[in-house]
Amino acid sequence: MNAVRSDVLVLGGGVIGLSCALALLRRGMSVRVLDRGMPGCGASHGNCGTLTPSHAIPLTVPGMPWKALHWMLRRDAPLYVNPRPDWHRWRWLLGFARRCNLALAERTAVVRAAILQRSWTLLPRVLVEEGIECEYAPAGNLFVYRDARSLAGDRVEIEWLHRLGIAASVLRGDEVEAMEPALLPGVAGGVLHADDAQLRPDRLVDGLARRVRECGGAIEADTAIEGFHCTGRRVDAVRTSRGEFSGERVLMALGAWTPQIAAKLDLRIPIQPGKGYSITMSRPEPCPRRALVLREPSVCVTAWGSGYRLGSTMEFSGYDESLNRTRLDALRRGARDYLRVPLGAELREEWWGWRPMCMDEIPLIGPVRRWNNLLLATGHGMLGVSMSAATAELVASLVTGGKPVLDATAYSPTRFGI
Ligand SMILES: Cc1cc2nc3c(=O)[nH]c(=O)nc-3n(C[C@H](O)[C@H](O)[C@H](O)COP(=O)(O)OP(=O)(O)OC[C@H]3O[C@@H](n4cnc5c(N)ncnc54)[C@H](O)[C@@H]3O)c2cc1C
Repeated sequence: MNAVRSDVLVLGGGVIGLSCALALLRRGMSVRVLDRGMPGCGASHGNCGTLTPSHAIPLTVPGMPWKALHWMLRRDAPLYVNPRPDWHRWRWLLGFARRCNLALAERTAVVRAAILQRSWTLLPRVLVEEGIECEYAPAGNLFVYRDARSLAGDRVEIEWLHRLGIAASVLRGDEVEAMEPALLPGVAGGVLHADDAQLRPDRLVDGLARRVRECGGAIEADTAIEGFHCTGRRVDAVRTSRGEFSGERVLMALGAWTPQIAAKLDLRIPIQPGKGYSITMSRPEPCPRRALVLREPSVCVTAWGSGYRLGSTMEFSGYDESLNRTRLDALRRGARDYLRVPLGAELREEWWGWRPMCMDEIPLIGPVRRWNNLLLATGHGMLGVSMSAATAELVASLVTGGKPVLDATAYSPTRFGI
């Protein structure tokens, strides 16, 4: 059977695959997206939907490995590493720990800030031009502290953000309480990231998928990628549960699943799934006016006209698909300590998703050495929504031969010898 052919075959229909597909269609290419479920059924579905240049500083800072070791002892800690032996996980953790030094973290922060800020400029434009309604609001993101010591501990990062040109202003407790009447009294202080924004992520992916189809692209749902046919240095066709597909170029945007599928092409991808949880409810009353980060328990609160979500936590436990009650309860407990009405009356969804965590906290975007017609767009970790529009722009430039706005070498998978 002859494989169905397109200019670009996109593997994975999450926010990254769909954003890239749309940008490529807009440059006149024919595009087909394959996903084993419905588009947007992975990490792109139930995340917190915040657009956060404020998160430019990576986790690879000095002291993080010790913090993680300490947290390993608590199953409800914001970051949990399952201590069970798993060669892939431990190799990744070792590589991550080796990168926890200030000089590297400063370089990483510059590279992350560049793609976050470019996306911050592009995404609102894309939403208007494509007519995508996803409750986008440039309302800022407020970090709330109930312990003055933890705010003092974050001052170094606040100055670091200023050096990167990212807005962050420190507020007194009474100022924070006046801004957000939904908070319980006793706030020690806050940091307002005025340039951050928010949207409803499931509506974003629905809108992207709709526009991909309207622009002539095809989306093959319920199509699980099983393997590849290759000749020499070329990927000729992708074998799936629904037949074979091929593309002049193949773009792998499989999020946390990338290492599993890329292994079939002899590629070792330095990504581990970083599991996070969210709880979606109806809006409580009073409801926060903007996205909040409850700093000590690391709980993110996002409120839209259509609902309300508590999310976050980071768990390294491999490809474990269970919904961990302890970690869901930690979200509820965190919210109870900060908010007058922490939960909405109607529970709509309890969810988990795998963030594609790259060992150096920079996404992998661009061609690989081993295969002439394969590109990656993956490894966006905690920031896939925030980095999506600039990732799509970069991929479109690399595929069409245009001059990228971003420094493409900084994101190239070849930095890992891939
Ligand atoms: C709790 C939580 C909160 C978060 N909050 C934010 C936030 O506020 N802001 C932000 O920017 N980011 C946030 N993130 C991160 C963000 O969700 C991810 O970075 C982003 O969704 C990754 O997108 P993706 O397209 O790479 O991956 P995914 O959305 O996971 O897409 C990968 C796709 O590949 C498909 N696939 C996998 N295997 C196969 C196969 N064999 N065949 C075919 N298809 C396959 C999957 O079905 C899936 O649709 C959060 C994540 C979590 C878990």
